Amino acid sequence: MASGGGNNRNGTHRNSLKGTTTTSTVSTDKPLSVNSNPSKPAFKNKSSPLTGASSGLRKSSPGSLGGGAAKDDAGVPGRVRVAVRLRPRNAEESVADADFADCVELQPELKRLKLRKNNWDTDTYEFDEVLTEFASQKRVYEVVAKPVVEGVLDGYNGTIMAYGQTGTGKTYTLGRLGEEDTANRGIMVRAMEDILAEVSPEIDSVLVSYLQLYMESLQDLLDPTNDNISIVEEPKSGDVSLPGATLVEIRDQQSFLELLRLGEAHRHAANTKLNTESSRSHALLMVHVKRTVKGREPAHSSDNGNSTSMARSLRPPLVRKGKLVVVDLAGSERIDKSGSDGHTREEAKSINLSLSALGKCINALAENSAHVPVRDSKLTRLLRDSFGGTARTSLVITVGPSPRHRGETASTIMFGQRAMKVENMLKLKEEFDYKSLARRLDIQLDKLIMEHERKQKAFEVEIERMTAEAQNRISEAERNYADAVEKERLKYQKDYMESIKKLEEKWMMNQQNQGNERKEQMVHIAEEVAEVKKLLSKETSLRKAAEEEVDNLKSQLAQLKMSEASANSEILKLRKMVEDEVCQKEKLEGEISMLQSQLLHLSFEADETRKRLDRGGPGKVPGRLDSPVSQVRSQLKDSGNGEKASVAKLFEQVGLQKILSLLEAEDADVRIHAVKVVANLAAEETNQQKIVEAGGLKSLLMLLGSSDDETIHRVAAGAIANLAMNEKNQELIMSQGGISLLSTTASHAKDPQTLRMVAGAIANLCGNDKLQTKLRGEGGIKALLEIVKCGHPDVLAQVARGIANFAKCESRASTQGSKTGRSLLIEDGALPWIVQNANSDASPIRRHNELALCHLAQHEVNAKDMISEGALWELVRISQDCPREDIRTLAHRTLASSPDFIAGLKRLRINY
Ligand code: ADP
Ligand code: MG
Repeated sequence: MASGGGNNRNGTHRNSLKGTTTTSTVSTDKPLSVNSNPSKPAFKNKSSPLTGASSGLRKSSPGSLGGGAAKDDAGVPGRVRVAVRLRPRNAEESVADADFADCVELQPELKRLKLRKNNWDTDTYEFDEVLTEFASQKRVYEVVAKPVVEGVLDGYNGTIMAYGQTGTGKTYTLGRLGEEDTANRGIMVRAMEDILAEVSPEIDSVLVSYLQLYMESLQDLLDPTNDNISIVEEPKSGDVSLPGATLVEIRDQQSFLELLRLGEAHRHAANTKLNTESSRSHALLMVHVKRTVKGREPAHSSDNGNSTSMARSLRPPLVRKGKLVVVDLAGSERIDKSGSDGHTREEAKSINLSLSALGKCINALAENSAHVPVRDSKLTRLLRDSFGGTARTSLVITVGPSPRHRGETASTIMFGQRAMKVENMLKLKEEFDYKSLARRLDIQLDKLIMEHERKQKAFEVEIERMTAEAQNRISEAERNYADAVEKERLKYQKDYMESIKKLEEKWMMNQQNQGNERKEQMVHIAEEVAEVKKLLSKETSLRKAAEEEVDNLKSQLAQLKMSEASANSEILKLRKMVEDEVCQKEKLEGEISMLQSQLLHLSFEADETRKRLDRGGPGKVPGRLDSPVSQVRSQLKDSGNGEKASVAKLFEQVGLQKILSLLEAEDADVRIHAVKVVANLAAEETNQQKIVEAGGLKSLLMLLGSSDDETIHRVAAGAIANLAMNEKNQELIMSQGGISLLSTTASHAKDPQTLRMVAGAIANLCGNDKLQTKLRGEGGIKALLEIVKCGHPDVLAQVARGIANFAKCESRASTQGSKTGRSLLIEDGALPWIVQNANSDASPIRRHNELALCHLAQHEVNAKDMISEGALWELVRISQDCPREDIRTLAHRTLASSPDFIAGLKRLRINY
């Protein structure tokens, strides 16, 4: 503990105290060497309590709890003032130490204290003030505290601390309330009395916090729930503040006493709760004084006297802020000595950590050490700006007289001795109070605004008054003017009347003169009047007659108008009748066309029904599939004269153009019937020419391309097949893209009959010598070979017919020399199908293919392909088995004459 350290020093390093301690021998009271510090600042001297602190032996210490605050303009170095106070013997000591002399002896006039080491040896110490057991509280306050309080009132920080063993009178010195006897009032109460006496309540403020520091925890004695207050240090200024602590404004002494009482009660309660005594904790009273400096310029004002009073009023008021800290420190005795009080060693350490840290800091400051361990404890952090820093500091060390506590007393004395060497850097806390200046200026501004408003109002009232006055004057002037005008008017009127009167009189006179002349004139006039009257009566009768005439004409006009209206309504009626007639006619025409289409429909239905009956009838020759044309023709033939007659009749009745136009009818059914009728007509060779000339072929081809209906496709393709019988028509079909239309139709067809019709049409085209190349070029052969995929014998028969036709034409062209090279059928890959179907069970297929093979075989150029595709076998078979003799002979002749075939036969070892 701090006191322990101090004690050691006392014993072993006394010399290090640099002559603040003198050792005297037994007999002499005279110090061998007195404290060489010549500065004996009179604590009593109010005006300069700290003057001379920097002179003497003691070096000005750069160190302080404030972390070595440099001297600035406002900084004045000062030393910590240390007083020692001896407590009178108490009752217990009077008894227990009755036979022993006190261990201390005071020499107040020399400000010395003698500590008895033993019966023959004493140590003498010098202090700033030595207070005997008879020293009154008042005197103690005046020498220890008053200068500090005055400093606080002047804007310095100040600290008063009491240090000493428990029971030596620290609390007595600092905290006595003196309720029983005002003479006993301690430093706190007296300090507040002085402060309150100095401050003006309207402009200054006194705020108080009261705290307890125990085991490094800072508790608010004014609000016990607030038990861990944090310390905030302003890094720049080094100021310490406790934002969490309760601050109470003190306006009178009574409230301060109550606050101290309340704090004491809370301290007692807290200590009971913590199972400790107040001697273990530090009590801190903090008084913040803020004073407005009146009646003088700030110390560092640069006012040169030229400034106006306005400028002076704009200067913010100067305030001085001082903080007084009164610290009743914990008992300086070592804790272990105080016996078992339930604390562990660790706790015991922390209990007086702050006190020992304070001791260490004081040592460091006293020895001018570079490092002052301020941050080691809360107490030293709290006192950073109050002790050895920028504050005025007084320390009162309290000692008891009992020789039994000599050790503690000695260590307390050493603490005080070291503290005497600590220098403070005083700093005046003076600043401009901009806030209150702002407030003052606000008030001034308010006043000015009010004044302005007042003037404004007065001005407005004045303006109003002047306006009213002006208006009064104007109306008065107007009135005067009106009066004058009226007067003038009356005058003129009067004058006028008078002059009129005069003129009348004059006129009367003239009249009389002219009277005689007049009479003659009157007679003449009467004659004229009679004549005019006559004329007038004549005119009147004429007018009457004219009026009668007009009335007459008017009635005639009315009659005419009436008859015109009736004629108009008649016209309207007739017009309506005409419209109705037109409507009726249109209706009837619609009905006629409907009836026509119905007629078409019915006739075709009848046709179909008849065909169906015929097909199912007995005696039909099976396998008559030479061509759909012949079929249709035969159907027409079979249907008898009645049917033919009906179609022919229809043809006549309706007309070909009409029928063909129905091919483009909107109604799908009508289109179907129309195409059927056209197909029927096309079956008759006599009609074909007419149909083509009327554009029927073109319409049918277009129908193939435009319609999606399979029936239409089938019937149209049939009709085209019939028309394709004719060579001229064949060319027309080809020139109008017939091949591609037919092959597209085939590719979409689902009904074999459609395919049969398409194949029939192409087969007919295949028989045209002139169209060979074009037909092949447009894919006709390829289309046939596609169609065979359907496999229906009727369809295959048509394909075979087409191929045979094509082969025949080609053969003819080759023989004539107009064609050279391989057959286009072989080129387009038809040969395998021909060979495959050359021996078909269906005789039309077989016969056409046999013919095709024979035609192909005629030309040596096809021989090699034919041999490789197996046609040789078929030719041999045909030459032997074909029921038709001409074909048989043709085959035989071909085989016998072709060198390639002969070689092929040999290679196949066929004896031929
Ligand atoms: P501390 O606070 O240092 O523990 P106290 O102030 O409580 O000591 O004092 C202990 C006792 O001594 C108290 O009863 C107090 O009244 C008495 N006492 C202390 N100093 C004086 C003094 N100067 N005159 C008379 N009595 C004193
Ligand atoms: Mg106490």
